Amino acid sequence: MLKKLIQSLRSPRKRQPHPRTTPLVLSKRQHPLGRQQISRNALSVIERLQHSGYQAYAVGGCVRDLLLGLPPKDFDVATSATPEQVRAAFRNARVIGRRFKLVHVHFGREIIEVATFRAGHVEQARPDNQQSAHHESGRILRDNVYGTLEEDAERRDFTINALYYDPGSERILDYAHGVHDIRNQLIRLIGNPEQRYQEDPVRMLRAVRFAAKLDFDIERHTAAPIRRLAPLLRDIPAARLFEEVLKLFLSGQAEITFDLLCQYDLFAPLFPASAKALQRNPRYSEALIRQALINTDQRIAEGKPVTPAFLFAALLWPALAPRAAQLQERGLPASVALQDAAQELVIEQCKHTAVPKRFTIPMREIWDMQERLPRRSGKRADLLLENPRFRAGYDFLLLRESAGEQTDGLGEWWTLYQEASDSQRRQMIRQLGQRDSATPDEPASAAPRKRRRGGKRRRGPRSEQAGE
Ligand code: ATP
Ligand code: MG
Repeated sequence: MLKKLIQSLRSPRKRQPHPRTTPLVLSKRQHPLGRQQISRNALSVIERLQHSGYQAYAVGGCVRDLLLGLPPKDFDVATSATPEQVRAAFRNARVIGRRFKLVHVHFGREIIEVATFRAGHVEQARPDNQQSAHHESGRILRDNVYGTLEEDAERRDFTINALYYDPGSERILDYAHGVHDIRNQLIRLIGNPEQRYQEDPVRMLRAVRFAAKLDFDIERHTAAPIRRLAPLLRDIPAARLFEEVLKLFLSGQAEITFDLLCQYDLFAPLFPASAKALQRNPRYSEALIRQALINTDQRIAEGKPVTPAFLFAALLWPALAPRAAQLQERGLPASVALQDAAQELVIEQCKHTAVPKRFTIPMREIWDMQERLPRRSGKRADLLLENPRFRAGYDFLLLRESAGEQTDGLGEWWTLYQEASDSQRRQMIRQLGQRDSATPDEPASAAPRKRRRGGKRRRGPRSEQAGE
């Protein structure tokens, strides 16, 4: 199907160096994209803008994905109208954006993002001396400089993302040989790769994301500087990197994305603690992270919900477990050691990817569960079952076991317990009491209980809070 679609893209002219000031124009007959494939709301936005005398096109991911026979995630529109002019043309429009202004036109649940043509990087000599502000490293800090359609094409990241579709004439405008690269399944930056990464290092992550999503190769020159420039990601605001990480791992191709991130040294700047754990204990760490990503991809393929909390819990666990064990060796009780290590790790990770509290809280609850699941005596097992985080905690336990962790059959015990009748459950707890009577409350791996240096315990046993 994909091959057929790619073959159906007929090249109107021979390939030339990019970018161009006059586009290649693909007429209706030269490409497989049909007007009816564009969302009705995007069509109405484009038509309204065009009737008001502005240029307007469907652009970016939607044109790329439709040419590849994939369902677009959303529809973006590029226009010569300024954000204020766009807002004036629609009642249901809102201006948004910090890095640059965009307009969101709302149609119930669908949002059409309308961006004004912008001029991009500095190579362009602008007659009016308007230029984007640059950081010393070349990073663009502010690029709300409006431009022409040609300039807009040039400032986009990859050639395959710089295709403009006009639903009126049903033509595609191709300024950067994007159609050629779609046909050859290549991710290629527009312009000088090194400079484009320095302007915005997130483009390195985007290269990997699109390579994984589309199963494309990253073109040689586009790939070459990535490993050297990967550390530039450390200067990117943590909130933006968090959003990018979600797109990287929650788009259905997380496992391949992870491999590419590691291959290009991009994983360490995003997850430094996990990267260290991968070096120290590669077999377990990689198995756990990989299995979590495989499960995530599978859930997405089945249309099941996925949560960033579980994903981050898994990505960070290989770094957390040894830290908690270390604190335990110094004499902290297992539950306190885990909580202290978690606190420290979350603070550290948020400096790189700002994980919002609504995800760090459940993430830490999933981790807490790992310490509580071995303690099942008395009413504890039933209280744990009622805990809203039980399911995630249990899934996480199975994940740890699938990575080769020895838990003395704990996962299987919980599987049976969930399926058991009341009397069977009582029996299972009784057997447990006999078996574990020597050390009823400690997980198998727990170090002998030592007193903290100050002599006092900080908190009561965590299990007493079960079922909160
Ligand atoms: P998808 O929505 O499927 O993830 P997309 O290509 O639509 O992919 P968006 O992040 O929605 O990606 O961005 C829309 C378009 O804006 C891109 O296709 C690209 O042309 C441009 N763009 C986005 N981010 C950048 C960037 N960092 N540098 C240059 N251009 C960018
Ligand atoms: Mg998009």
